[in-house]
Amino acid sequence: MNVAYVSIGSNIGDRLRHLTEAVRGLHFHEGITVTSVSSVYETAPVGFTEQADFLNMVLCVETDLAAQHLLEVCQKIEHGLGRVRDIRWGPRTADLDVLLYNNDNIITENLIVPHPRMHERAFVLVPLLEIAPLMADPMPDEGVLLWKKVNGVDDFLLEGE
Ligand code: ATP
Ligand code: CA
Ligand code: CA
Repeated sequence: MNVAYVSIGSNIGDRLRHLTEAVRGLHFHEGITVTSVSSVYETAPVGFTEQADFLNMVLCVETDLAAQHLLEVCQKIEHGLGRVRDIRWGPRTADLDVLLYNNDNIITENLIVPHPRMHERAFVLVPLLEIAPLMADPMPDEGVLLWKKVNGVDDFLLEGE
């Protein structure tokens, strides 16, 4: 069994619904179990700043899928939620990134793990620290606001039902 961390972000439409649909999409996929979820945080966009604020969260999953296959599942979920790839770092209904996969270092054409920019992003590190205190160094939580406290996977899976 492998342990991976996945980040989810959304800044278009019903952002919370996009997060819950993404979590469900992972959890109910064969070979993936979501074992913990962070709270939901709201963050101002970085990079391309002329866009709406994001909701962000981080999940821990147990999976027997290879990292590459996990990425494909993430991309299918993005697609299912209507993600259109246009501007890099631009607005999106859902962005799922594989942050960590065991302690593996992976460098392929379409997958780099650990995610190469995670350590400079408070919107990734703050939720990651909430569920995996040993995985990331503390960093200033500037611009990252607790938007919705989440108490466990089961509660979150029922969100909006
Ligand atoms: P960033 O990668 O800086 O967070 P982004 O999420 O906006 O930017 P995308 O357009 O979603 O970038 O993805 C660009 C490409 O990144 C994808 O096609 C994917 O193959 C590649 N990629 C490489 N490593 C990863 C990873 N660890 N998780 C997700 N995608 C990755
Ligand atoms: Ca991303
Ligand atoms: Ca991405």
